[in-house]
Amino acid sequence: MKAILITKDEEYRAELTDVDEAQLPDGDVTVAVDYSTLNYKDSLAITGSSPVVRNFPMVPGIDLAGTVEESSHADFKPGDQVVLNGWGVGEVHWGGLAGKARLKGDWLIPLPGAFSPKQAMAIGTAGYTAMLCVLGLERNGVTPDQGEILVTGAAGGVGSVAISILAKLGYDVIASTGRPEQADYLKSLGASGTIDRAELAEKGRPLGKERWAGAVDTVGSHTLANACATTKYGGTVAACGLAGGFDLPATVMPFILRGVTLDGIDSVYRPKADRLEAWQRLASDLDLQHIEAIMHEIGLSDAIATAGEQMAGKVRGRVVVDVNR
Ligand code: NDP
Repeated sequence: MKAILITKDEEYRAELTDVDEAQLPDGDVTVAVDYSTLNYKDSLAITGSSPVVRNFPMVPGIDLAGTVEESSHADFKPGDQVVLNGWGVGEVHWGGLAGKARLKGDWLIPLPGAFSPKQAMAIGTAGYTAMLCVLGLERNGVTPDQGEILVTGAAGGVGSVAISILAKLGYDVIASTGRPEQADYLKSLGASGTIDRAELAEKGRPLGKERWAGAVDTVGSHTLANACATTKYGGTVAACGLAGGFDLPATVMPFILRGVTLDGIDSVYRPKADRLEAWQRLASDLDLQHIEAIMHEIGLSDAIATAGEQMAGKVRGRVVVDVNR
């Protein structure tokens, strides 16, 4: 089968190569992969920008959609269409950027009926995480009548999907981006306005003017600290990303004086019930036309070059990878 393979000897290398299927890792379900994706984490892995990969050699790809070929797991039989997001796949267990994958059936969910395999991968971990962030805001009582919601890293995968979902649910979304040329795109997804990400990127005051009812932050560092410092009394900031840095140079003031909630969002080891809920909500709350606008498709042979572009912040929305070309 064709696969992207990451090796680390004297140097760290990712290459498109032929891999013998006999080398697939242990698992109770073998899946013929139709599509995978490039999430931020996949591009970190492929470029070696961060120590995402913990076993070598590694097939990256934290997401896949495909068809079960063999299964000894009670929930899956040959021919079933399935989706995988996370669980350390593409980090410690061979992932989706290959013609086949062998996985634990407990990690899989059935392909949601609302989506084709390609659409499921246009959503991918980024979109499923955006949904988890929105569910976090809802769980903490943030409602559309309370005011503006900030989405940072807006033109990226998580940001784009979060905007679309929030707008469909009736929230007033302000998109923070470093790419002003993407303003029309962000508004087409439902943002009512944009702000320059530079406004949030520098060290700010412990508390600023109260503006946001809630926020979805994919950037971290000063951006996350400033989002918390400018969130209104009782609001919630869902933090899922580190595109701007993994530090958090903040004070406790927003939390102890304004009762702001910082809601940490992990998608990788999220229990199955939460995943099923998120995918069900994606089926009802994400506009299928927006999925088309958010995604673009590449072949497996383009994945390494595109990972470099994603690390340079040049990729918009979501990248779907057809692993069979
Ligand atoms: P993308 O690469 O698609 O988007 C990231 C966006 O962040 C860019 O498009 C850009 O948006 C913005 N950005 C990039 N560099 C910087 C910078 N130096 N400073 C400020 N903003 C920057 O990535 P994803 O949407 O797939 O992922 C976003 C983040 O969320 C990543 O950190 C990823 O690791 C994390 N994540 C976490 C998950 C979890 O389980 N917690 C799951 C999925 C993702 P713009 O051009 O609009 O400014």
